[in-house]
Amino acid sequence: MGKWFGEFGGQYVAEVLKPALLELENAVSTIIPSKSFQDTYAAMLLEYVGRPTPLYFAENLTRQLGGAKIYIKLEGLANTGAHKINNALGQVLLARTMGKRRVIAETGAGQHGVAVAAAAAKLGLSCEVYMGEIDVQRQQPNVFLMRQFGASVKPVADGTRTLKDAVNAALKEWVRDPDTTAYVLGSALGPYPYPDMVRGFQRVIGDETRRQVLDQTGRLPSELFACCGGGSNAIGIFTAFLDDPVRLTAVEAGGTGNAPGEHASRMNGLSKTGIVEGYKSYFLQDDDGQIQPTHSISAGLDYAGIGPELAELGRTGRVVFTSARDGEVLAAFQQTARSEGILFALESAHAAAAAFKKVPHMDKNDSIVIHMSGRGDKDLFITAGALYTEEWAKFLRQEADRLERQAER
Ligand SMILES: *Cc1c(COP(=O)(O)O)cnc(C)c1O
Repeated sequence: MGKWFGEFGGQYVAEVLKPALLELENAVSTIIPSKSFQDTYAAMLLEYVGRPTPLYFAENLTRQLGGAKIYIKLEGLANTGAHKINNALGQVLLARTMGKRRVIAETGAGQHGVAVAAAAAKLGLSCEVYMGEIDVQRQQPNVFLMRQFGASVKPVADGTRTLKDAVNAALKEWVRDPDTTAYVLGSALGPYPYPDMVRGFQRVIGDETRRQVLDQTGRLPSELFACCGGGSNAIGIFTAFLDDPVRLTAVEAGGTGNAPGEHASRMNGLSKTGIVEGYKSYFLQDDDGQIQPTHSISAGLDYAGIGPELAELGRTGRVVFTSARDGEVLAAFQQTARSEGILFALESAHAAAAAFKKVPHMDKNDSIVIHMSGRGDKDLFITAGALYTEEWAKFLRQEADRLERQAER
């Protein structure tokens, strides 16, 4: 807890950022624990987010796989479709309580941007989301959603025009006007106090799961599976179980192979310790320390670094890391849809893929929990494009023609 997780974490930032981070640290230790903040946040989690999200016994999958009982934490039923809203709402509420009028955020695939935009709409703050130009082009559905929530999407034309350039642009804007503005970070990483604060807002997932699984089965599960990008959904569900005899498995993006640029597995020995974006952790980098490109079929797991707390939990072995390849992930997505009528986000389908490999070898009296961090509607263009390539290409061409004809009239 706190600023360091073993040797990982810390606050490696330029002097100009320090006053804003200090103000945030003070707010985290005084405002967040206060009764009025906790009451307001709890009421919004209940009424607006739709908590508690169900823990669901997947009877059909359990029968098919013939091993441990499979439970699924349906976090994807939260408003806006994923766990990210817990953190976005917490940070935007904190910003409002601190008297800020505007929130800014970075986003890569757009999921965090959508959650922040929704929370800002709900709480009446203005919202700007910084997004690399390339990401703006390839993530139009999320750009559309952010705009519907009233956010202004700021395309960033610097550098590689992707996430890390968006982070830099957002930080620059924060430093320009820290009095009126709060910076809302999207995963359990970045400089202190972000990893601590984000875990604090996401741990509700594990607290609920622990109560639900004890209610439903009378005992603890033997294993939890969660996917791991930056690590916020994984640390969110794992935290409540850290002192229990429960195996905690984090699943990274195995992509298409082990060569640089084909995956985003930071914890399989391919990454190196480094200091990037204000904190120390494992990063996929080349011999010169340059961040390497990554790949994943899911938009949310292709980050080159990993949150500092999970880096330390992985180093000590308390959290076990594995990965799932793109093909296995698509197969798990289809299997959960056909067997249970549940559409997993591709990120969450990584956790399902790893669990499905293990479950047949486990005892029937054991139970496991798969964290469905998000639902899969958002991935329609990727999944449909991969599973029905020609039909989907034809459909998109038709739609493009229709829009062009409409524009000409
Ligand atoms: C963003 C996202 C992730 C990855 O982020 P973490 O911080 O690792 O949780 C996982 N699942 C879904 C559905 C997401 O939107």
